[in-house]
Amino acid sequence: MCYPGYAAASGSEKIASLPHRRFSGNPPPSAMHERPFVENLLKITLRHAQRAGARRVLALNLVIGQMSSIVDDSVQFYWDLLSRGTIAEGAHLNFRRLPAVYRCLDCGHRYPLDGQHLACPRCGSVRVQLIQGDEFRLESIDIEETDRGAPSSGALPPDTPSSAFLSPP
Ligand SMILES: [Zn+2]
Repeated sequence: MCYPGYAAASGSEKIASLPHRRFSGNPPPSAMHERPFVENLLKITLRHAQRAGARRVLALNLVIGQMSSIVDDSVQFYWDLLSRGTIAEGAHLNFRRLPAVYRCLDCGHRYPLDGQHLACPRCGSVRVQLIQGDEFRLESIDIEETDRGAPSSGALPPDTPSSAFLSPP
């Protein structure tokens, strides 16, 4: 699996994504369980922390799309549960919401979601595709390094493809 334009461009790592859907007025899928997402999140975090020589993980900076069914509180709940006993225990979770952006399949117009109106504002078509806003990804982690003990912050290495985790070699 490959997600060009996401991790490659931003240096962040995608934890999960729903496949892009074509909407025809239907609501997004109902809420799903956050636990498997948080399990992935913890694995990714620990892998990067280990690579960076971290003694502790202080914070995670997460990006969640507006249309994602991920619920902040549930992520926090499972994070507290699953990170227990790891170097990431007690890490603070920072959430940044990304607005939904659609592309019209008929005229190519790109536009943000305006309330509940999904149809293309230019031509009125309902054949539209969500191109941003369904993601859930880890942008960076704040760590305490082994040697100096000073907190440091950094983006994830850009040479790490998101597919590394999703489909291991
Ligand atoms: Zn249109």
